[in-house]
Amino acid sequence: METKVVILDLDNLDRTAIEDAGKVIRNGGLVAFPTETVYGLGANALDDIAVKKIFLAKGRPQDNPLIVHIADFNIEYLTTEIPEIAKRLMEKFWPGPLTLILKKSQIIPDTTSAGLNTIGIRMPSNIVARELIKAAGVPIAAPSANVSGRPSPTEVSRCIEDLEGKIEYILGGEKCDVGLESTIVDCTVEPPCVLRPGGITLEMLREVNSEIYIDPAIMKKPVGDFKPKAPGMKYRHYAPKAPLKIVQGDLQKTIAKINEIVQNYIDENKTVGIMATDETVNFYKNGIVRSLGSRNDISNIGKNLFEVLRGFDDLGVDIIISEAFEEIDFGVAVMNRLKKSAGYDIINV
Ligand code: AMP
Ligand code: MG
Repeated sequence: METKVVILDLDNLDRTAIEDAGKVIRNGGLVAFPTETVYGLGANALDDIAVKKIFLAKGRPQDNPLIVHIADFNIEYLTTEIPEIAKRLMEKFWPGPLTLILKKSQIIPDTTSAGLNTIGIRMPSNIVARELIKAAGVPIAAPSANVSGRPSPTEVSRCIEDLEGKIEYILGGEKCDVGLESTIVDCTVEPPCVLRPGGITLEMLREVNSEIYIDPAIMKKPVGDFKPKAPGMKYRHYAPKAPLKIVQGDLQKTIAKINEIVQNYIDENKTVGIMATDETVNFYKNGIVRSLGSRNDISNIGKNLFEVLRGFDDLGVDIIISEAFEEIDFGVAVMNRLKKSAGYDIINV
């Protein structure tokens, strides 16, 4: 299949491209598009056959449900119940990087919800995403626009790399602002529970309801026949091609440990990538060092994480070693993705 790629100028949106891409969605095709979290791979959420194509293009397991993206607050037809807390969260954080899990209505095909009786709904703030949804005239089911298991794309070049030839249309915009997937809050339980940390932090959610909590299972390695509340949590995710290890603890000790590990690999003639920060980048003597940004700006670190991982894929390194971050505020989301990328291979110092 030939994939049409259009890079949009945000100051002067190409309406024709957006209308064309909207038509592709309406007619049952697939479009990759920017959102403020990561690039999404969209299909008409109400069209079972179209949604199946997403799973095929990504190689996504069929039991991993999709998030439905909408552009206006009229979501009654997608759900059977909107609890008061969901209304308050929508009011405060939509449009933005927050997905709400609600009971689904009959209109949502089982393929979209992967057989669950609930559905994840989000209103993105990215203008291209919203204009596309409006042009399509239907809600858009969209997981991240990558081959399943790989780090999510935060730049259009990565969508092209993973999906060119497999989908009808790729819309490009600027680099994704948040860079990590949306926060998911399950509003079908009391009190509501965070199933995936993201750009809307627990601290922000608790300003609306102080009882909201994070499912403790999500920061730990899944064991045995663990059945997570968000089905996607059981899969290896965000993984670079090379194995990734995290060194966690005091920063001076972390640097020393990473230098020691790197030397050992270099002695074995291996190429090592180091994920460092602006504050530490000069302390690594060997290996290929990349900074995720300043430790004083955790938002920027989250924004850069997936692209730095993909950059190491480009270089074909044998192993990647990363520093760790404090698990507070947005650092919870950063560490959640980093730990999953590493398959929970963590060295404590
Ligand atoms: P992705 O769009 O690829 O980031 O994946 C969507 C994530 O949302 C997956 O990890 C799913 O497990 C989660 N999700 C989507 N719908 C639901 C739902 N109805 N209940 C729980 N988790 C969901
Ligand atoms: Mg994904």
